Amino acid sequence: MRVLLIEDAPRIASFVVKGLGAAGYTVDHVVTGAEGFARAQDPTVDLVILDLGLPDLDGTEVLERLRARGVRVPVLILTARGEVADRVEGLELGADDYLTKPFAFDELLARVRARLRGREAQVGWTLRAGGVELDLRTRNVTGPDGPVELTAREFALLETFMRHAGQVLSREQLLARVWDINWDPGSNVVDVYVGYLRRKLGGRLFETVRGAGYRFPGGGDARIDAGSPVPPEGGPAAS
Ligand code: CA
Repeated sequence: MRVLLIEDAPRIASFVVKGLGAAGYTVDHVVTGAEGFARAQDPTVDLVILDLGLPDLDGTEVLERLRARGVRVPVLILTARGEVADRVEGLELGADDYLTKPFAFDELLARVRARLRGREAQVGWTLRAGGVELDLRTRNVTGPDGPVELTAREFALLETFMRHAGQVLSREQLLARVWDINWDPGSNVVDVYVGYLRRKLGGRLFETVRGAGYRFPGGGDARIDAGSPVPPEGGPAAS
């Protein structure tokens, strides 16, 4: 599970990043509203923790802009202002929960888990979409024409596509997720690996969305088996 933390106070940020990291979450941390607004639109983000007092934009403005764009990611607001008026305003703008500073880490963790429960419950050991089945334990992959052998990198790329079936993923998002490197506009490594997967699984599964990236079919019909909890994205199975 991937959490985006938008918080400018270094001590709080470090406390949250370390704590959630230790609890098994992948945490991306940014300090400005503008950067947070941009990153929160990444479909691989499962939860946003948003401070209201940011150096550039107010947190409520970030939230308002995200909801206006149709970004539905759950948002947990951190606020030093405990006033009822702020809570009501935030709820109207589409926040899912609140935590008033100062807070105990356990309280934050409980809120994060509550917000992610629905998503975590969907995480099992087998991903199925587009006629492909991917087993996270055995790392076996079965395509429309039968079992296929994938390299570790191909497996990680396919897993990312299948976890986000139906969504357009940009090259930048895929590079950050699968190769863990920042976007190099000159790199065509994503296209090369999509080519490998197309050869092994069929070209129709990796639709090119011009100017945007790639899309794996599914979404509505994509299914992730419920079962044993975990492993979250970015965990051992994805590395
Ligand atoms: Ca602040």
